Amino acid sequence: MATTISADVLVVGFGKGGKTAAHVLTDAGRRVVLIEQSADMYGGTCPNVGCVPTKMLVHYSNARRHDDDAQEFFADSIAGVRDLTSAFRAGNFEALDGKDTATVITGAAHFVDPHTVAVGEGEDRVTVTAPTILVNTGSEPVVPPIPGLAESSHLVSGTELTRTANLPERLTVIGGGYLGLEFASIYRHFGTHVTVLESAERLLPREDEDIAAAVAEILLGDGVDVITGARITRIEDTGATSTVHYEKDGGSHTVEASALLPATGRRPVTAGLRLDAAGVHTGPNGAVEVDEYLRTSQPHIFALGDVNGGPQFTYISLDDARIVLDQLMGDGKRTTADRVAVPHTLFVTPPLATVGLTEHEARAAGRNIKVSREKVADIIAMPRAYTVEETRGVMKFIVDADTDLVLGAALLSIDAQEIINTVALAMRHDITATELRDSIYTHPSSTEAINEVFDKIVA
Ligand SMILES: Cc1cc2nc3c(=O)[nH]c(=O)nc-3n(C[C@H](O)[C@H](O)[C@H](O)COP(=O)(O)OP(=O)(O)OC[C@H]3O[C@@H](n4cnc5c(N)ncnc54)[C@H](O)[C@@H]3O)c2cc1C
Repeated sequence: MATTISADVLVVGFGKGGKTAAHVLTDAGRRVVLIEQSADMYGGTCPNVGCVPTKMLVHYSNARRHDDDAQEFFADSIAGVRDLTSAFRAGNFEALDGKDTATVITGAAHFVDPHTVAVGEGEDRVTVTAPTILVNTGSEPVVPPIPGLAESSHLVSGTELTRTANLPERLTVIGGGYLGLEFASIYRHFGTHVTVLESAERLLPREDEDIAAAVAEILLGDGVDVITGARITRIEDTGATSTVHYEKDGGSHTVEASALLPATGRRPVTAGLRLDAAGVHTGPNGAVEVDEYLRTSQPHIFALGDVNGGPQFTYISLDDARIVLDQLMGDGKRTTADRVAVPHTLFVTPPLATVGLTEHEARAAGRNIKVSREKVADIIAMPRAYTVEETRGVMKFIVDADTDLVLGAALLSIDAQEIINTVALAMRHDITATELRDSIYTHPSSTEAINEVFDKIVA
């Protein structure tokens, strides 16, 4: 029999923002219903098919020794990933559904009207009504319109790659952006022959040229074939492999692939939500339009995380939850404009973590800057790089010459994903480059590089 439930707050999608808000609201005594379309996705993209499995694979792939059987080692690694993601998934479900005033419903939700969402059809249909609704349905990979790609039997998604125990022999990654390079680095370290085809003339066009070149050098040194300025014209299945045809420098070339991974971006998941039934507006790429408080065109409906078209990171979805909770339970002042110095990390090995302005951006903006830059191998104050035998990379800081404030950093280094948070915190709280340089850090750590690199400053 069809069922109708009323709740104080309805959350559609089990992403980071939605679940965080759901917990806080439940703990505050609100009756919360959360709808997740798949039992394989409790907790959302990050713990199931995103950050957690890929970063675990970074860890495993770097632990492989040359005499390990590549296929066997990979299958064991995938089993380890499966164990962890299953545990996280179950934990996510129980932590929320186990609360007295929270219910998790499994099924794909769509809007019926501005206050009503339905799951399932006919006798199994569950209808939920709520005065407040949070949409947190995430994003999905885009398959670019390359002739032959969508039909290829070797087309794989990142999710499929991290769930299959078969190590691909030859992986071609289409697109040299963040996710593409992470997969390239991981699978190369597992022993796959990896080719990255990037249409731009260089990798990471947003980063300074010297930083992008340092990343490319590391990938090439690890044996990844990085081909930039490549325009893929078609893909042809040839039995056990696909032939990827591309043009570069006026010539036609091919590369063979047993797995083809498109990594050309992710689009918000809104197609099946019937947002028009709720009067919620979307933009051209399907993203839900929101204001700085994350309210949609219907003020009682909020959109959090990748679905609102903002930066696609778990910690942004988490910050979205802070904004929405401030609207629902706080003084309503917090906005997306409050975000300053938001760092991010590209988990190649060693990782590249960046925050703020690049040197190019700072100069283009007419800022009076000083730049400090040092290769990791040359940083005497950072023996940690030598103790863990990873001395590749470079650290670069952009400093305002007038105020001594840090404007940006690009850290290609062991532990960069940790150091960058200290730098970002300093930027948010106006701690100067000199104060950072003269601070006390533990030893041997990677953070203590800061003691030295700020001394290498040049105008
Ligand atoms: C391979 C990969 C690696 C990544 N690595 C990192 C990283 O290292 N660090 C980082 O910060 N970010 C990383 N990201 C990005 C990060 O995972 C996302 O930005 C983040 O998970 C988005 O969270 P969200 O809250 O928007 O929703 P999601 O976590 O995407 O959750 C949305 C949920 O909604 C569900 N859903 C969709 N439609 C419906 C519907 N109609 N009804 C019910 N449920 C529905 C989906 O099944 C899903 O579970 C990575 C992403 C990928 C793909």
